[in-house]
Amino acid sequence: MQYVSTRGATSPMQFQEAVLAGLAPDGGLLLPEKIPSLRNRLEDLLDLEFVDLAFEVMREYITDIASDDLRDLIQRSYANFDSPDITPLVAVGNIHVMELFHGPTLAFKDVALQFLGNLFEYLLASRNQHMNILGATSGDTGSAAIAGVQGKAKINIFVMYPQGKPSRLQELQMTTVTDDNVFCLAVDGSFDDCQSLMKSVFNDLEFKQEFHLGAVNSVNWARVLAQVVYYAYASLKLSKKLTQRVSFCVPTGNFGDILAGYIAKMMGFPIKTLVLASNENDILPVFFNTGIYKKGGVHFTLSPSMDIQVASNFERYLYLRSGMDSAAVCKFMEEFESQGEVVLQHNHPVDETIRAVSIDTRETLDTIAKYANEHAYVLDPHTAVGVAAARLIKSDEPVVCLATAHPAKFPEAIKRALSLKDQSETMAALQHPRLQQLAELEERKVAIAADIDALKAYITAHARLADKTESTAS
Ligand SMILES: *Cc1c(COP(=O)(O)O)cnc(C)c1O
Repeated sequence: MQYVSTRGATSPMQFQEAVLAGLAPDGGLLLPEKIPSLRNRLEDLLDLEFVDLAFEVMREYITDIASDDLRDLIQRSYANFDSPDITPLVAVGNIHVMELFHGPTLAFKDVALQFLGNLFEYLLASRNQHMNILGATSGDTGSAAIAGVQGKAKINIFVMYPQGKPSRLQELQMTTVTDDNVFCLAVDGSFDDCQSLMKSVFNDLEFKQEFHLGAVNSVNWARVLAQVVYYAYASLKLSKKLTQRVSFCVPTGNFGDILAGYIAKMMGFPIKTLVLASNENDILPVFFNTGIYKKGGVHFTLSPSMDIQVASNFERYLYLRSGMDSAAVCKFMEEFESQGEVVLQHNHPVDETIRAVSIDTRETLDTIAKYANEHAYVLDPHTAVGVAAARLIKSDEPVVCLATAHPAKFPEAIKRALSLKDQSETMAALQHPRLQQLAELEERKVAIAADIDALKAYITAHARLADKTESTAS
């Protein structure tokens, strides 16, 4: 399988190279040259365990790693999850909650980042290379990325986050990892500032090459790929032996998660509707409902991991939806960059597969309270946004709501939602042993200005550089 850029000006490359590159050199995002179909094999896949299904899905896209090695990478990546199903489905009222938070940092990003960390380690070992990972996080990506690579040889990781924006627990999950290959940078700015700093550093090809920069943000194709697996898994499980299709509600920030669902559907898995649920940052719901793509200011909400205006994976969606037309993508992105707005005319609804809605703070809190009171099930605020959006699905067919974080990561929002009642059952859901111990640990972080030169200087001073044997070997 070859990988191509959404901007069309990069020569095709294999999976390994695509993973190591992160962004394409032409500034676009990498995608497989075609989306493989498993439509004719669904019967055989119906009863597979998560890890075996992951292997079947991933090997369609990864043709330059030996099967046994791939299987081993997948197995090791999910060995640390504390549920035998990895991403268990829980029936709650008339929805199915898919709990994606059973990995080491209690957020869904572990599903992809445990795999990516092992994959990087494998690729670097076989090439005798080193890497400096640069990431930007609004909350959960940072800790999950750090957990994916902490202590790994040949890798340093630099994680930027907007100072004061992630919850204190989220921050502690990053800053209490004191392995000497981990650097946490508290940036004086917004998440969009962090993301654009990251883009400018990666667009400096000389700098990128000199420091062997790698990406763990959802621009990295391997992350999207790992997420395709749980859509496949849940849709097969709930399809009643392929006699019905399953819809998904996806709390959305950078569009990585829902893109994975879109790809799972293109592969032929029994998926009907994907509901895109945003918080007050509604650029994507406005687009899907009107055809207008227009950047607004960032709102800070109860679901900080979704406080994003410009979603980096949206470009991949535009590319797939246009029938892989890179000229159309370039035109769209250029217009957006110069005008701050693009209007797709005569094009409603924009997409039959995707329904989209913005859920405000009031409805998020009400949803948390409703599920706690009626079903004794505690939703974290991100998950609650997705669950509230399930009202868009009117049919009797199964609806899966993706639970993207454990509620114990966001106790303030949940206490606010449940202010009237203090049921001990609910309060128990807000405890997790892994989080309780954090406050006692030593913290390590550095404050930094939202400034490209400051960032480059910091990386230059702390990067992992090739040792002598490595540089003569390469
Ligand atoms: C990252 C994140 C999201 C949003 O996922 P995207 O892939 O950015 O759309 C939602 N919920 C939680 C808890 C997250 O960490």
